[in-house]
Amino acid sequence: MSDQPIYVTRPHLPPLSEFIPYLESIWASGMLTNGGPMHRQLEQALADHLGVEHVALVTNGTVGLITALQALEISGEVITTPYSFVATAHALLWNGIRPVFSDIDPVSFNLDPARIEAAITPATSAIMPVHCYGTPCDVEAIQRIADRHGLKVIYDAAHAFGVRHRGQSILGHGDLSVLSFHATKTFHTFEGGAIVCPDAATKERIDRLKNFGIVDETTVVAPGINGKMSEINAAFGLLELQHVDGALARRRAIDRLYRQRLAGVPGIVCPEVPPDSEGNCSYFPILVDERRSADRDAIYHRLREQQIYARRYFYPLISDFPMYRDLPSASPEQLPEASRLARRVLCLPIYPGLTDAEVTRIADLIADTR
Ligand SMILES: *Cc1c(COP(=O)(O)O)cnc(C)c1O
Repeated sequence: MSDQPIYVTRPHLPPLSEFIPYLESIWASGMLTNGGPMHRQLEQALADHLGVEHVALVTNGTVGLITALQALEISGEVITTPYSFVATAHALLWNGIRPVFSDIDPVSFNLDPARIEAAITPATSAIMPVHCYGTPCDVEAIQRIADRHGLKVIYDAAHAFGVRHRGQSILGHGDLSVLSFHATKTFHTFEGGAIVCPDAATKERIDRLKNFGIVDETTVVAPGINGKMSEINAAFGLLELQHVDGALARRRAIDRLYRQRLAGVPGIVCPEVPPDSEGNCSYFPILVDERRSADRDAIYHRLREQQIYARRYFYPLISDFPMYRDLPSASPEQLPEASRLARRVLCLPIYPGLTDAEVTRIADLIADTR
C-alpha cells in the first residue's frame, strides 16, 4: 500500500465497457462535433441535474470564462480574487481586461464583499468571484454591490458543481456562472466546461461565440472562438453523470473520516461549509497554525516523503505571478488575508477511489508531524 503514490485527486473513470455503447452510437451517427446528439443530451441532462435553466457546453473552463466575458461585453477593469487557480485572472488578460485584486474573507476563502466597493473605479465593469473549494460566495451581498454600481457578475464556478445555497443551485446567481469539467474536477469530461445562462437568448449568443461567431453560412457577427465540446467528451459526460451521486457519497464519507481523525490535533483546523449551503467535498483544505513547530510546509514535505502529494492550493497567489505582480492591486500588503491563507493552507487527497485506510494513514501522519 505504501509504495503507491497518492495524488491530491485522481480522475473518476467508470468501467470501460460502459463507454463502448456511447462510442458505437457516435460511430453510427458520424457526428463528431458541432452540437451533435451527445452534446444536446448532455446540455439537457446537466440542466436537469444541476437545477438550472440553460447550459452551454464548452471545450474547457478557461474558454468558458473568456467567452462569458465576451458575451457580456466586459472591458476596462474587473474585480476578482487573488486566491484562485491562475486561469481566473488569465481569462481577463485574454480579453484585454485589467484584473483588480481584492482581498478575501478568511472564513469563506471568497471575495470579501466589504472590500469590493473600495476597489470600484469608473473603469470597473464587472466582478468575477470564485466559489473557492465549492464554498458559496456571499452571493446576496455581491449582487447588492453590483446592482448599486451597475456591474455585471460572472462567477468562476469551476469548483462548484452541484453546490447548493439556501436550497437552490449556486449556479443561478450573478449574470453567468462558468463550470470546469477538467479531469481533476468532481464531475469531468476529460477536458470540458459549461456556461450556465439565465435565458435562451444569452445561451444563443454564447453558442454563437463558441462557434467562431457564425450565425449561418454567410453571416458571422463576432470574433468568436472555437470553444465547442466534441461528441466524445459529451458522451463521457453523460456516462459520468450516472456515477456522480455515488462519487459524491464517497467524497462525503472521506470528508467525515478526515474530520474525525484530525479533530483535536493541535494547530490544525478543518474549515466547514456554512450550514445554509450544501458543498460537494471537491477539496479537503486544512489550515495549519503558523506558530506550530511543524508548519504547513513541514507537513507538505513529510507527506511527500511518503509519496503523498497534498497540494498548496492556492500558493502562490495569482497576484504573485510575474504577469500580475506589478499591478497596483497585487501588493501583498493590500491582500493580507489571502497572503496569510496561502501560507497556511494544504489540500489533502480526496477522490472516490481513496480508501479509508489511506485517509487514516494521511491523517495520522499529519497528527504525528509535530
Ligand atoms: C480548473 C479551474 C479553472 C480552469 O478550468 P479548465 O477547465 O481547466 O480550463 C478555472 N478556475 C478555477 C478556479 C479552476 O479551479
